[in-house]
Amino acid sequence: MNPTYSIIIPAYNEEEVVAESYARLTRVMQGMGEPYELLFVNDGSRDGTARIIAGFCQGDSAVRLLNFSRNFGHMPAISAGMDYARGQAVIVIDADLQDPPEVLPQMAAKWKEGYHVVYGKRSKRKGESLFKKATAKLFYRLLRAMTDVDLPLDTGEFRLIDRRVCDAVNALPEKNRYIRGLVSWVGFRQIAVEYERQERFAGVTKYPLRKMLAFAMDAIASFSYKPLKLATSLGFIMSLVGFVYMLVVFYQAVFTDRVITGWASTMVVILLSQGIVLMILGIVGEYLGRVYEELKNRPSYIIQEIIGGEHETTDNPLPEPGER
Ligand code: UDP
Ligand code: MG
Repeated sequence: MNPTYSIIIPAYNEEEVVAESYARLTRVMQGMGEPYELLFVNDGSRDGTARIIAGFCQGDSAVRLLNFSRNFGHMPAISAGMDYARGQAVIVIDADLQDPPEVLPQMAAKWKEGYHVVYGKRSKRKGESLFKKATAKLFYRLLRAMTDVDLPLDTGEFRLIDRRVCDAVNALPEKNRYIRGLVSWVGFRQIAVEYERQERFAGVTKYPLRKMLAFAMDAIASFSYKPLKLATSLGFIMSLVGFVYMLVVFYQAVFTDRVITGWASTMVVILLSQGIVLMILGIVGEYLGRVYEELKNRPSYIIQEIIGGEHETTDNPLPEPGER
């Protein structure tokens, strides 16, 4: 029998929190009284995360563990979870308990009302730096302004999706996955549930500034062409300004006796225009690089081993690792 609920929990170096998340998730899910599975995806942790979760698998057939062959990233970990989930409703939740499991019954209730996607909307973020809160706020608004897809604001990966939505997203061929965006993109009946984002239970964030920037660029590049259009507009504006200035210079040279010195202004124009040209090349490069990534068609993750869940049987055979 396939479970009603699959909970996907990506974990990267989370040895300090997985025991607590397992305990709290189990308590909440047992309280809901329907079959469930906890699908931990160990994203190449270098600490004891895998060992601890493998321990849960021994005593509890509701737990399954996918071990990645290395660290592939948060989005690939969720993709793997979605590929292997067997439930009728699939829930994604962070391992660090920033998304409180106690919200799950509320999400499930909305699902039973007939909604296909119930996403958690952060009404408040506790225990995160002012910088993170501000950049996150800015990022969600910028991204929304740049794309035609109806992306909800202040929404992370914490959500419940129906089997149909999960299958629709899994069927998309792209490798570079901004999952919350893809879930919006596929449509269906969507609704928000507000919650307060908690402090991390223990440990430190696995999203340092460098990863956050890469993540933002991925999201923008996969949902918007605006930066490329911006490049075109800038090019036009600069040509126009250059043309007008050329007329002015021409006029001065022919009709006035003002001496044209202007070494400084020439340098400014050259530096500025070179800077803009390089920036535009860079933007084009960002997209080109992503096209190349997709073209190479490498799997977005590789699974080293699957532990637990042997007692469950399934109608649909599991996909081969990285089949997509
Ligand atoms: N995570 C992951 N792979 C990574 C980075 C993060 O699986 O390369 C997981 C991490 O273990 C956590 C979730 O993604 O369960 C969110 O990460 P984190 O809490 O560090 O991000 P933050 O909440 O600080 O944005
Ligand atoms: Mg977190």
